[in-house]
Amino acid sequence: MCAAEIPPRVAMLGGTFDPVHVGHLRSALELREALALDRVHMVPARVPPHRATPGVDAEQRATMLALGIADTPGLYVDDREIRREGPSYSTATLASLREELGPQARLVMALGYDAYLHLAEWHEPARLFELAHIVVIDRPDHQQPLPAALEALIEGREVESADTLMQSPAGGLLHLSLPTRMAISATVIRERLQRGESVRYLLPDAVERYLLARRLYR
Ligand code: ATP
Repeated sequence: MCAAEIPPRVAMLGGTFDPVHVGHLRSALELREALALDRVHMVPARVPPHRATPGVDAEQRATMLALGIADTPGLYVDDREIRREGPSYSTATLASLREELGPQARLVMALGYDAYLHLAEWHEPARLFELAHIVVIDRPDHQQPLPAALEALIEGREVESADTLMQSPAGGLLHLSLPTRMAISATVIRERLQRGESVRYLLPDAVERYLLARRLYR
């Protein structure tokens, strides 16, 4: 097979990134390595104004994400959910990526275990598997058992290795325990900032400088 025929391998990692932290960034980088991906699209979600963190809008979350990624090879800010009107359904995001990449591309939706636990409650959850593989990233701070609706949704989909997953364009489920597992959450960062405590080393320096200069999350 010549290079032009090798299907691209792309993942999306969605989130609110409110703010982005090294748990997100290190996971995205190690996900790219583990699956030999061409790139990881980090997709900030559009959050309805009544649910958004006061004083921090979608553009600021995307700017912090871009500052955090900086020149990291293979990681990109993908702002399509912010630009799209209406709710941020992952099926719509995956459908637009699938449209761009073609039917043979290996498309992955990656999410942390905490987000995965709620997957069966998402909009058109079965359609997610028609569009992409789902890769669940272990989080050391989240270990609850699966709800029954999720068990039913994933039945027969789990594969044991990245190689097996990447043999098809979509439809599989893989659990990944990445080399660096970090018990860091944006919630803890927001709480620390609110109390005026240091967030040094929990997020990239450029992100820390940006949010401190604007007194975000205070
Ligand atoms: P919050 O504390 O506000 O809920 P969060 O830190 O979980 O935020 P999100 O923006 O909701 O961050 O997360 C985006 C995605 O990244 C989710 O799939 C989430 O599970 C995953 N994620 C977040 N933090 C980590 C981490 N430390 N390690 C691995 N995955 C993570």
